[in-house]
Amino acid sequence: MALPNQCPLCSSGRENQSVITPHVYGDKQSIHTFFKCSKCDVIYLFPQLTPEQEHKFYAQEFEGFMNARSGENAGWDGPESHVKSNQGQFDRRWKYLQSMLPEQGKILEFGCSSGFMLYPLQEKGYECSGIEPSGVFSEYVRSKNVEIFESTSALGADFDVVMHYFVLEHVKEPALFLEENLRLLKPGGTLIIEIPNADDPLYTIYDIPAFERFYWSIAHHWYFTKESFEYLLNSISGISFEIILDQRYDLSNHMVWARDGKPAGMGKFSGKLGTEIENQYRKALIDSGYADTVIGIIKKNN
Ligand SMILES: [Zn+2]
Repeated sequence: MALPNQCPLCSSGRENQSVITPHVYGDKQSIHTFFKCSKCDVIYLFPQLTPEQEHKFYAQEFEGFMNARSGENAGWDGPESHVKSNQGQFDRRWKYLQSMLPEQGKILEFGCSSGFMLYPLQEKGYECSGIEPSGVFSEYVRSKNVEIFESTSALGADFDVVMHYFVLEHVKEPALFLEENLRLLKPGGTLIIEIPNADDPLYTIYDIPAFERFYWSIAHHWYFTKESFEYLLNSISGISFEIILDQRYDLSNHMVWARDGKPAGMGKFSGKLGTEIENQYRKALIDSGYADTVIGIIKKNN
């Protein structure tokens, strides 16, 4: 097993680095390991993917990989079913977004995929565009009058809101990436980020072995907790920020994990259990600090 000499985020030494797991989902050659730094709390893939491996993965394998990972009804088989199956994600995010977004303005989403976050915002009057290097859904997104770019090189400090959901963990240089996000914001603009919380309850509270084999993915360079995400944001100048937790997956999803040891989408038992217990369950996880999602709300200084 290759060992890191230092933490790639905080540069603390080898004595602070320990193995989280050698079971990296999608690591066909079994050459990667996830390590954790006890100094800044970040978890990281080592060795990293080479640029060639990474390019190949995103150009050819990503959608199929996600389809295999996400269980049934995930909608990776076409743009319209993808939009439809992610309506719940939009609804969940809208609960906190509505108090954070300006009344109107320009929104840019990195990794906009099928564009499911952007169409409802467009309907509310925002001017929306997206960045998506994977071309699978691009034609569809353009057909919905959302401008889509493959990179940021032609874009200036033009946006009121920049956002990305489950993107940062895929980025090799997260501080540089966030600085590039901030460059695209007008002064006083807002950057909104969601990432997986490494303190996911299926791992921390329930400790489900099958989940542990599934969770640590070759597609992720990093897994952050609230603590390590705060460390990262503190390294960036010219911002103020708030970090909150949210719970994406529901009680039904967790029950299937516990019963079958595999993912099965969401809502399987909600029809019988009702939404009240689902809401209380989500709230209990968030309050405990062991929820599956970390949200960063970052303001660019005026
Ligand atoms: Zn560190």
